[in-house]
Order: sequence, then structure tokens, then C-alpha cells
Amino acid sequence: MPSIKAMALADAERVPPAWLQPLLEKNFFEDCPNHPLSNCNFFCTVCSDRAICTGCLPDHPGHQVIQIRKLSGHGVVRVADVEALLNVSDVQPYLHNGHHVMFLNKRPMAGRGRAGEIRCEECERALLDVACRFCSIGCKLAALPEDLDFTVSFAVPPESDSESGGSDSDYSADGDRPSGLTRTSAQEGGEAGTSAASKPQTTVAAEPSSGQHRQNNNSVPKNI
Ligand SMILES: [Zn+2]
Ligand SMILES: [Zn+2]
Ligand SMILES: [Zn+2]
Repeated sequence: MPSIKAMALADAERVPPAWLQPLLEKNFFEDCPNHPLSNCNFFCTVCSDRAICTGCLPDHPGHQVIQIRKLSGHGVVRVADVEALLNVSDVQPYLHNGHHVMFLNKRPMAGRGRAGEIRCEECERALLDVACRFCSIGCKLAALPEDLDFTVSFAVPPESDSESGGSDSDYSADGDRPSGLTRTSAQEGGEAGTSAASKPQTTVAAEPSSGQHRQNNNSVPKNI
């Protein structure tokens, strides 16, 4: 039976870094107030006050900055960029331009979304990987307070170097099923489903540039 103190310590270790909540709440891809022609697609984990653009980066020397990318009109981060900072091993990765990415927040869906046995424990979106429990980093964060048996944790395992090697092979196994990945991300946008059927392999890569415009308006505000 663990002592109260040990449990409190374990609980404290599960807590994400202070910048995670601000990261999930920011609006990205808007014009920078200081550099009007530049889109804000970076986040500084030290300052964490607002989304910043490339022109802002010199104001954050030595700060850990995370680049936000867009998939199906929603903000994502590369797994490689965050896995040393956050334990995201139970968040569903998606293949995007040859890199594994994760959604920052849950995405709106109609009803229960697509069929599937494995579902996000927080929003019930269907997931691809049995090993995953959450559709997004935001859903994992939301699940943390309800997780009384301490299985949800943002603590990066101490042996994170060998861990990342291990998860890399998991991810490449995941990449062996690009059709599954394509189908899922295509379904986010609804109408993209038909184009996914006709050109399955390229849809994921092509979607951010073509898809972000038509999906932006209805998806971004709900995501805040
Ligand atoms: Zn700027
Ligand atoms: Zn900074
Ligand atoms: Zn979810």
C-alpha cells in the first residue's frame, strides 16, 4: 500500500508542464500583431503568452519553441518536437508530410463519428491504434483529473532516449498502414472522403494546403 506522500509525489509527477494549457488555448495561424504579414505558428514554452511568428523568434533567445502545423484545418505538433517534453505515448499519432503528428485539441465530429472499437477516453472519437487512449493532447489533459488510478501521466519516462527509439519503431509500424491514416484524416473534413478514395496515398499530404481553407471557418472557433 503506497503512502499518502508517495501517492502525492506520483500525482505531482503526472502533471503536465505549466505551458501546456496555454498552448492548447492559443489561436494559431493568425496575423502577428508585431509582424502583420506573418502568421503565428510558433509557441514559446518559456513565455507562453501568445502565439508567435518567425519574426518574433529572435525575441526568444534560448527559449524552447514549438512549431504548430495544420492538418485538416486543426493545429498539430510533431511527435518528435514534443515527446522529450511531454509523455504523449498514449495519444493517437497521424502521418502528415512524412512525420508523425498529434492534434493539440479534440475536433468537432457529428455524433459518434466513424465506426471503431478503440475510442478516445475523453471525447469518444474512433482511434486507429490499440495502444492509444486519446485523440489529442487536449483530451489527455482533460482526462488527467478523472484518472484516479494514475495511469494518465505527462511525465516523460527517465529512459526517454531508449523509449523514443522504441516508440519510433511503433510509429513506423503505424506508417505501414497509410490507408487507415488517410481514411481517418479524410473523414475529419467530411467532403474530403471522396478524394481520399480516389487518391488514397497523397490525400494526407495534400490536405493541409487544400483543406485548410475550406475547413477553417467551421472548425477553428469550436476548437478554442
Ligand atoms: Zn511576430
Ligand atoms: Zn520566449
Ligand atoms: Zn478525444
